[in-house]
Amino acid sequence: MEYLDGLSSRQYINGEWVEASNGETRDIINPYNQEVVFTVSEGTKEDAEKAVLAARQSFESGEWSKETSENRCNKVRAIADAILTHKEELAKLETLDTGKTLEESYADMDDIHNVFMYFAGLGGNDGGEVVESPIPNSESKIVKEPVGVVTQITPWNYPLLQASWKIAPALVTGCSLVMKPSEITPLTTIRIFELMEEIGFPQGVINLVLGKGAEVGDVLSSHPEVDLVSFTGGIQTGKHIMKRAADNVTNIALELGGKNPNIIFDDADIELAVDQALNGGYFHAGQVCSAGSRIIVHNDIKAQFESALIDRVNKIKLGNGFDQETEMGPVISKEHLAKVANYIDVAKNEGATIAAGGKKPERADLKDGFFFEPTVITDCDTSMRIVQEEVFGPVVTIEGFADESEAIQLANDSIYGLAGGVFTKDVAKANRVANELKMGTVWINDFHPYFAQAPWGGYKQSGIGRELGKEGLEEYVISKHIYTNINPEPVNWFSK
Ligand code: NAD
Repeated sequence: MEYLDGLSSRQYINGEWVEASNGETRDIINPYNQEVVFTVSEGTKEDAEKAVLAARQSFESGEWSKETSENRCNKVRAIADAILTHKEELAKLETLDTGKTLEESYADMDDIHNVFMYFAGLGGNDGGEVVESPIPNSESKIVKEPVGVVTQITPWNYPLLQASWKIAPALVTGCSLVMKPSEITPLTTIRIFELMEEIGFPQGVINLVLGKGAEVGDVLSSHPEVDLVSFTGGIQTGKHIMKRAADNVTNIALELGGKNPNIIFDDADIELAVDQALNGGYFHAGQVCSAGSRIIVHNDIKAQFESALIDRVNKIKLGNGFDQETEMGPVISKEHLAKVANYIDVAKNEGATIAAGGKKPERADLKDGFFFEPTVITDCDTSMRIVQEEVFGPVVTIEGFADESEAIQLANDSIYGLAGGVFTKDVAKANRVANELKMGTVWINDFHPYFAQAPWGGYKQSGIGRELGKEGLEEYVISKHIYTNINPEPVNWFSK
């Protein structure tokens, strides 16, 4: 692949491309065929420590944190431009690293461009506010300051997209950052750091550390010089990070998993609901935090819906993400494939029925890839692990419901609360249900749309805080109240 020629294999710390302190490396595997496509430095605790200290030094220097917001936003706009200029190579690197279809990767790059543009537009708009003071002869203003040094830890499913949600608000607000991508999908994050270096940021403002979560990520979540840890990933890792950050009372923002219900009423357009259920369940082989992996369908149309869904699921074309015909790629890794396959046994043991898929495909051309057949599981109920736990693969469960209140009760019966869908032609009913769902995002007659203008995040154990939207910017600032007595006089409380 031509785009790998010249790509740095190293980390970017304090304005320099550096190898791991112990010289260790990691092979990057193409999930389509298990070929080693690249080798990168495998960072260490020492590297993470250096990056955090470089970020702290740059933040305190004020070179970026006290730069005008206009200049900061212009630089972030330049990143957006660079994403478009390098769209093809970035999309190809993303497909190579994750196995997702090239079409999806191109769509990711458009979204990433929009994220940088949105925050570049938003960044200069909040100069704080003046509030009315209740004390005579005084003035009060609230200013927003950058929160400081932020560490940013991202997952493997949307490597560059998730990075953009964190890098853009951090930079426009004046923070210094240390980014750690998932160790198995670092390629596009390395490339964007090269592009950001070309654009030019003061030394130490942007740092990239590669390596394992338990090593590098642990330093990034527990270092006393860190002011905010922004993490996207699994629920168990999120809980661990929260505990590590607690030692220093460090701010956290957590975007965790989901087991997202997709409620289909008996008055829904069934063809549309089936089509959107496919999108919800099998996009990126179901490796989407907001995947509609839990279908809850009205009992009167359940049989019809199941048969129409299974019919289309069986036609999903698996293959190489670079092949235009491919509709679904592999899952990310051997370990993840084993986890997904194990859930099929869990479901069978719980008495559910594997109505489509449920195994590795038999096609000879897919034998070296981490492929799993798109799967539909029926005869499910809420008590089952297969209905409650995030599989993060192309596996969808189906439950039935009798009426609106049961649909709401089932959908909310989860530790998660990231997103959900409602399909019905009755707008009033759709809005009633949406109001009752304990989720950060609810889609009505659609599944998956999200954009930079609207906040993204979870209720319950799906996370803490919001990314994107105005709320996404708020994570990166801290408010300060500055009070001025404009006619000071002694108060004479003591030693009169
Ligand atoms: P993961 O939790 O295994 O890893 C995520 C990141 O955390 C990686 O960079 C990893 O190296 C790092 N990490 C691992 N252990 C760590 C530790 N002890 N300390 C610090 N960092 C550590 O998750 P994953 O498997 O890469 O991603 C899949 C998960 O991400 C799914 O649960 C999915 O729902 C979630 N996700 C959520 C959103 C969202 O917006 N809510 C978006 C994408 C993915």
